[in-house]
Amino acid sequence: MNKLEQLLAANEYLIADGGMGTMLMAAGLEQGDPPEMWNVLHPDRIRAVHRGYIEAGSQIILTNSFGGTCFRLKLHNLQDRAYELNKAAAELARAEANAADHPVVVAGSIGPSGEIMEPVGALRFETAVAGFAEQAAGLAAGGADVLWIETMSDVSEVRAAVQGCRQATDLPVVATMTFDTNGRTMMGVTPAQAYAELSAMNLTALGGNCGNGPAEIEGVIQAMYAADQIYPFVAKSNAGIPEYVHGHLHYNGTPEVMAEYAIKVRNYGARIIGACCGSSPAHIAAMAQALANTPIERQLVETAVAVPTPVRTRERRRRG
Ligand SMILES: [Zn+2]
Repeated sequence: MNKLEQLLAANEYLIADGGMGTMLMAAGLEQGDPPEMWNVLHPDRIRAVHRGYIEAGSQIILTNSFGGTCFRLKLHNLQDRAYELNKAAAELARAEANAADHPVVVAGSIGPSGEIMEPVGALRFETAVAGFAEQAAGLAAGGADVLWIETMSDVSEVRAAVQGCRQATDLPVVATMTFDTNGRTMMGVTPAQAYAELSAMNLTALGGNCGNGPAEIEGVIQAMYAADQIYPFVAKSNAGIPEYVHGHLHYNGTPEVMAEYAIKVRNYGARIIGACCGSSPAHIAAMAQALANTPIERQLVETAVAVPTPVRTRERRRRG
C-alpha cells in the first residue's frame, strides 16, 4: 500500500487542503505572475501556506505547481525551468509535512496544460505526455508522495497526464476534473462518464475539484457514488460561486457554508474532502471540526443533479 492508501485504510475520511492561488494573492502575488516562481523567490511564503493548512487539519497538501508544466510556464518564458520549479514546490511541501504533528501526504499538483488536445486542438498526445512526465519527475525528485492531476476538463488530457506520471515515476496517481459547465466539464464530460473513463486508469482516488461551489460538487459526488460505492472519491469545491466585485474575483462561501458542504459530500460518498479557490485555513478548520463532530450518514442518490451556473472558466483556470 502506498502512503495515501495507508491513510485511507486507517481513516473513514481524509481532510485535504484548500486554495493555494487564493492564499498567494493574499500574500502579494500579482495577477498574471507565475505562482511557481515563488517556490524559489519566496519559499517561506509557500511553506507558510502549507503550514496553515496542516495546522487547520489537512492530511493531504497540494504543492504549488498547478501551472508547472512547460506549456503553462512558456507563457512566462520559464519553460526551461519546469523540472527545477516543480522539484522546489515538492521540497517545500515535504519539509512542512515532515514537521507536522500528524501524518501528511504531499500531493504533487498537476494542472491542465492550458492547450487543447488533438484532434480538436493542436497539442499532440505525445507532446503532452512528455510535458507531464517532466513535471512529474520534478515533483518526485522533490519528495512528493503522490501525483495529483486536477482541474481537468478533457479525458484525453487526463490520460496523457497519467501516462506522463507513470513514464517518469512509480508514484501513485490521483485525478480530479472540473464540472463547471452545466454539470459537465468544459469539454462536455459528465461525472458518470469521468468515473467510467478514469476508474480504468488504475488511480488511487478520483473525483471533482474547483467549479461553481458546493452544490455543484455535491452533485458530482452523488453521481460518482451512484456508479461505485467503493472508490475513494475526492471533493475539493471552490468556496462558493466566483463573482467579480470591483474588478476582483470574490468568493461568497464562508467557513460555515463550507462546513455544511463537507458534511454533505461525505454523506454523498466522498472520502477525501477539501476545498479549492477562495478558501483558506479557516475554511478547512471549520470543515475538519464539523466532520469530526458529525456522524456519517451515507446517502445513495440515484438521480444526481448538478446545479447549472454561469461560469467564468478561463479566468479561474489561469489562477488555479
Ligand atoms: Zn479552484
